[in-house]
Amino acid sequence: MALCEFELIQRYFTSFQQGSAVVTGIGDDCAELSLSPGHTLCTSIDTMVEGVHFPKKVDVSGLGWRVLAAAVSDLGACGAKPLGFCLALTLPEANEAWLADFARGLADASNAFGIPLVGGDTTKGPLCLSVQVFGETPAGKALLRSAANSGDDIWVTGTLGDARAALDCLEKNSVSVHEQHFLTQYYRAEPPLKFAAELIGIARAAIDISDGLAADLGHILHASKLGAEVDLSRLPVSGALAQSYPREQVHHYALTGGDDYQLCFTADSNARSALRKLAAQFDIRLTPIGGITGGRELVLQCDGKAVDLDVYKNKGYQHFQ
Ligand code: ADP
Ligand code: MG
Repeated sequence: MALCEFELIQRYFTSFQQGSAVVTGIGDDCAELSLSPGHTLCTSIDTMVEGVHFPKKVDVSGLGWRVLAAAVSDLGACGAKPLGFCLALTLPEANEAWLADFARGLADASNAFGIPLVGGDTTKGPLCLSVQVFGETPAGKALLRSAANSGDDIWVTGTLGDARAALDCLEKNSVSVHEQHFLTQYYRAEPPLKFAAELIGIARAAIDISDGLAADLGHILHASKLGAEVDLSRLPVSGALAQSYPREQVHHYALTGGDDYQLCFTADSNARSALRKLAAQFDIRLTPIGGITGGRELVLQCDGKAVDLDVYKNKGYQHFQ
């Protein structure tokens, strides 16, 4: 017999880990979360639509992980510590095999990122997932896009472009011996949340790289009314990416590929040694890729030669384009 809405919630979404901030979790009209003294609430919501944000033939437990990874990535971008999340799930049918896989991936991510599921909504319709996350930062200290200064270093965590290469694998545009590596990066993205929370007081502006470095760094530049110089030869890429594509395409993917959920932030050059120490402590690959300038443009160079950004026509994913 088909599951009803309440059985579905009970069976798949009530046994997640809970957290110390959760006063009231799933089962009442609202979830109740407590904030640490002197902290403000940070919240963000992300939606994934079948056929737009993920292909129809998707790894379902990977989808469960990724929808939460994408949402907590925004908490990291503000330096927020996670408190809880809500899931709005629209499903064409209550397929139990699908639900079990999805809930497993989601629970794995919930444990890995230390963020409990505290509520949600379940409806019937075309497959669509929304995750709203809640976190906290010390009042007035959240890392914002508008806080860059001229002369700041620009840093990037992890590697860029692997999730873009995964799309080639999923769409079978190309075959690479590194397919498994790319798919793991795509389905099991790990935004550096703990590291990001420690950047408060050290970094200035920050953003997570969801739409591609050029587009997301562009948001920092726009909000801070500044420019930047970035050296393409310094962009951090995996050995797998470097071995799978010609160099110009590697740069293209690292610069414009979305879905990596790494962090791009700016900091005073005095912060270099503190940042390197922090990165070592959290086992984070951290790469300086350039600097903030007084201009209003993103200026690219590679091996000392100027590169026109227009060469990389797709500057990041945009809806309604
Ligand atoms: P209401 O009608 O008051 O909005 P619901 O009947 O939709 O409440 O949900 C009952 C409880 O189950 C609520 O606590 C809600 O947050 C939770 N819930 C509903 N759907 C989900 C879901 N997909 N994941 C987690 N919690 C859910
Ligand atoms: Mg209600």
